[in-house]
Amino acid sequence: MSDDQNNPLLQPWDEPFGLPPFARVRAEHFAPAFEQAMAAHRTEIDRIVNARGAPTFENTIAALDRSGRLLTRTEQLFFNLTASETSPELQAIERDVAPKLAAHENTILLDEKLFARIDDLHAKRATLSLNAEQLRLLERVHLDSVLAGARLSAEAKARLSEIVERLAQLQTSFSQNVLADEAAWCLWLNSEDDLKGLPDAVRAAAREAGAERGRPGTSAITLSRSLVVPFLTHSERRDLREQAFKAWTRRGENDGAHDNRPIAREILALRSEQARLNGYANFADYALVDRMAGKPAAVAELLEKVWEPAKAKATEECGALRAMAAARGEPEDVAPWDWRYYAELVRKSRYDIDDAMVKPYFSLDRMVEAAFDCAHRLFGIEFVRRADIGAYHPDVRVYEVRRGEYPIGVFLHDNFARPTKRGGAWMSNYRSQSRIDGDVLPIVVNNNNFAKGSPTLLSLDDVRTLFHEFGHGLHGLLSQVTYERLSGTRVLRDFVELPSQLFEHWAFEPEVLKKHARHIETAAPIPDALIERLQRARRFNQGFETVEYTACALLDMALHAQAGDDGVDITQFEQDELARLGMPREMVLRHRLPHFAHLFSSSSYAAGYYVYMWAEVLDADGYDAFVEAGNPFDPAVAARLLKYVYSSGNTIEPRAAYRAFRGRDASVEPLLIKRGLLEQPQPA
Ligand SMILES: [Zn+2]
Repeated sequence: MSDDQNNPLLQPWDEPFGLPPFARVRAEHFAPAFEQAMAAHRTEIDRIVNARGAPTFENTIAALDRSGRLLTRTEQLFFNLTASETSPELQAIERDVAPKLAAHENTILLDEKLFARIDDLHAKRATLSLNAEQLRLLERVHLDSVLAGARLSAEAKARLSEIVERLAQLQTSFSQNVLADEAAWCLWLNSEDDLKGLPDAVRAAAREAGAERGRPGTSAITLSRSLVVPFLTHSERRDLREQAFKAWTRRGENDGAHDNRPIAREILALRSEQARLNGYANFADYALVDRMAGKPAAVAELLEKVWEPAKAKATEECGALRAMAAARGEPEDVAPWDWRYYAELVRKSRYDIDDAMVKPYFSLDRMVEAAFDCAHRLFGIEFVRRADIGAYHPDVRVYEVRRGEYPIGVFLHDNFARPTKRGGAWMSNYRSQSRIDGDVLPIVVNNNNFAKGSPTLLSLDDVRTLFHEFGHGLHGLLSQVTYERLSGTRVLRDFVELPSQLFEHWAFEPEVLKKHARHIETAAPIPDALIERLQRARRFNQGFETVEYTACALLDMALHAQAGDDGVDITQFEQDELARLGMPREMVLRHRLPHFAHLFSSSSYAAGYYVYMWAEVLDADGYDAFVEAGNPFDPAVAARLLKYVYSSGNTIEPRAAYRAFRGRDASVEPLLIKRGLLEQPQPA
């Protein structure tokens, strides 16, 4: 028997729904599989390039969309595993294979003969009798190659290939370093005094973390956001808050093997060179070509509308925190590790709510049910648990997604933090929807990093995250397009957060809360009075949240507007830029640059962190369509939303898609009102 026959990655996947053979795959299967899959892809490309006769949409553009399926399937499995359940073996392969994959892809994008065919078709696209989706595909494929440098000289292309490979290496190291710093640190809480102020749910999560770190019965705080943030919110021990906060905000900034500062510097230098080779002044200009915003100036205009009012709001909030500290006879010099702690006390006193009171109504299981129920009411689909199907970790739940009796996709839900998973929350695909050669059903995963408890209780922030990722998940699952290149979430970067952020709105609809937010012990629905207080408290601390986020977005744009050859000293840059912006000294960035994975783990969110705010303009304005209809599940509005947003992938230009859904362009006011940065206009 040859090795190929022993390698499940190179065999047909005959698991249910064509899921990857998780149980049989071992790390050593990947290197040979990647090698063969790249070779197979290359052969397919050569066949397209050498096809007889003139290029046609079918023999070139559609053929490209069909090509590389073995490679895509291998990549999707591999990169999902390195994100969700990695190991030293997988990490070593990742470092080796990431530059090879980047080079492979780049060679195809820059293939002269292939580009000649694409360019020829693009030039006469109006005469090819293409339907709207085909035309859009041709335009995207053409732009992909042009932006990769297909029109440049041979020397420039050669240099670009080097840059792309080196970037892949550096970006892999950047994210592995953050993971290493997160895995290396933990704060042991050894006495009752160390636990002072922590509610039961946080104590349970800390015990769980202690057990996971090999000391059952002892409590620990790790750098997982869903553990460190509640700790900073509740711990009465200012000294321990300071320790945890400093470790958390210094990830990637520690001397030694995992220092991200030199890596970021080189990444920035290479991106700047990449942009200039392509004829752009800097990376921000280059990155924004294929975005809704189009130009950095459009981003600046939006961020500026938000920044000053947000800062004013945060200053006002800080005053209330100081007053709270003073009232308790504690030091008034609120430090960054005190903000969440005093904010929680102010929130409790102003709105009579605190996490400990709220959390028992938000068990993970019930909130998952709530998300499924909303998807059902809006889009008519159901999630059927398939306990008989296993995935890559026992905590992952597998669901068959159905419309009536027909399966439309598979959903994997991976909710808990663990040392082998990277931080944050994200959605990705194991397989994208397409129907170029018969129906291919999407396989979608949602990753969260909730602290596991028994039962697991969520904070409001966790609930928002759960619904956010689920919104992305629906964007993948509901996709109804022909070509894979246009499928699901493969839309423009500043449109992709619309389906996710829009879905967050349903989590806090009173109707949804009354049905699903039930007390973990009594199953009693959340009381109306508490819902009302939650609604009133929604704008609380929005100055902080907005500043923390917007500062990151402004820094990202400024950083990628640099055009130097030697990159940037990110620590110095961060300090100078924050001083220039007038960042309140009681706050830090939501993501400091040395661990800002959005910017440095790949290039896709570089000069792109603003996209959340950009999409929020759309989601705040878009949700008003349901408010105006007087029903959060209004069938007509939901039908338009499904047709033009959740199912259309990248087949429609995003502004046109939004207009078709909403009947007009979005306006920025609903966002400002939602964040409490603009007063709600009163009817005259
Ligand atoms: Zn998102």
